[in-house]
Amino acid sequence: MTATEPGKARMTRMAPDDPHATGLRLADPTLLRDRCLIGGAWTGVPRLSVRDPASGVAIGAVPDLGAVEAQAAVEAARSAFPAWSGLTAETRAAVLRRWQQAISTHKADLAQILTREQGKPLAEALAEVEYAASFVGFYAEEGRRLYGETIPAPRADARILVLRQPVGVAAAITPWNFPAAMVTRKVAPAMAVGCAVVLKPAPETPLTALALAALAERAGVPPGVFNVVTGDAGAIGRVLTEHPAVRTVSFTGSTEVGKLLMRQAASTVKKLALELGGNAPFIVFDDADLEAAADGCLESKFRNAGQTCVCANRIYVHEPVYAPFLARLLARTAALKVGRGLEPGVQIGPLISEAAVAKVERHIADAVAKGAQVRLGGGRHALGGRFFSPTVLSDMTADMAISREETFGPVAAVYRVRDEADALAQANATPYGLAAYVYARDLGRVVRMAEGLETGMVGVNAAKLGADVAPFGGVKQSGLGREGSRHGLEEFTELKYVLLGGLAS
Ligand code: ADP
Repeated sequence: MTATEPGKARMTRMAPDDPHATGLRLADPTLLRDRCLIGGAWTGVPRLSVRDPASGVAIGAVPDLGAVEAQAAVEAARSAFPAWSGLTAETRAAVLRRWQQAISTHKADLAQILTREQGKPLAEALAEVEYAASFVGFYAEEGRRLYGETIPAPRADARILVLRQPVGVAAAITPWNFPAAMVTRKVAPAMAVGCAVVLKPAPETPLTALALAALAERAGVPPGVFNVVTGDAGAIGRVLTEHPAVRTVSFTGSTEVGKLLMRQAASTVKKLALELGGNAPFIVFDDADLEAAADGCLESKFRNAGQTCVCANRIYVHEPVYAPFLARLLARTAALKVGRGLEPGVQIGPLISEAAVAKVERHIADAVAKGAQVRLGGGRHALGGRFFSPTVLSDMTADMAISREETFGPVAAVYRVRDEADALAQANATPYGLAAYVYARDLGRVVRMAEGLETGMVGVNAAKLGADVAPFGGVKQSGLGREGSRHGLEEFTELKYVLLGGLAS
């Protein structure tokens, strides 16, 4: 994620004369919500405008809530927890399956809302909504497999049972780059095992989250089981990390904010799942299929305009194939179409904020000052605003800011590496450890790299890692815990050891 000051709100207050014309053409306009959901009641006064990053136009507004409402949401979740966790897993699964179905049925509307508030191309938004629905479907099933254990006891008259139980109230704090999938990847496993949830979505993209909550309500999620609070991130975050009733916090966002939440959560010793920033190495060796490597690099680097935490940030190319790989990457990058996400054929939308554009400019200027070559792009796009030209930099070196920080923009930074040892040393020379990519055919090399890379995920001759069935997450300062797969249930459950004694006849 991009770095911002913790708690800094990026929304502007809505002037009374702001245009409310959203320009959204939804088949179901009731999905566009301007209230929060607390204890089954849609509540709050819409005061904070949500703007289309492509135009700056307000497309909606949401309430500016704070500590009091966050506490009310936690209380609502606490009250809803006993009945929800007391249902059979199959009954909860049925509700989740209906939610999945509702998301699929309304995917065109959800994608439109998502593109308008986030900026990504509509095709990517649609793919994200389907990805979001897949987590709901997966966890509907996985919640029915919350297996415990029996362990042979050290005494003949005793038995040991290990139960896996829901933690209670779960808090979820989500980012703007995947406004739908980051919500369901946390909320679905939590609800599947019986937790009640309080969600604080990103200020830039609350409308997708509220639309998902509206669909969950329609699917039969009981009042208080899924609450959504928008507003003052710092104040809401403090309640979610310090309220004793909240037993786990699942956060996706910047490393800075993750560390702050970790410190705050220490006061009440909560479970914590953190999916933080990355600085992914993308390594291409001389035995790789260069066409496949260039395709994968393009996809990894430029999806969501480079605003994903797993996107290739440092592209390390083995010297013998440096020139031919660079040529292929340049040709593909030059063909990318930049524009508004709703325009057909667009592949790169605007960046999320002016601060994001400024960071990309700073990274390019720093690299150029230290000897990098701008091979393509290098500045703002002719469309103006937050549109940025897809950029390729070559001759990158380790002393440049891009080598240390996540760029979070459409900049492909290409480095030379001498051999495997050099590639591994450079790739691991970062405090981050989320994703890495290796393109090579030699099996020994692939295994050496996959085992040696200090990351939670490695794509080998593959550039798209996210899947409902796979454990997504990082090591080092990229985070704690895993999301997706059966491992994604762990943050929302606790083990309980039960010793059954006195069993002698
Ligand atoms: P980015 O810089 O990419 O927006 P952030 O880490 O700032 O990443 O944001 C991710 C999420 O964390 C958003 O929902 C944001 O509102 C929230 N957030 C930011 N500051 C705080 C805070 N102090 N406490 C709780 N949540 C916060």
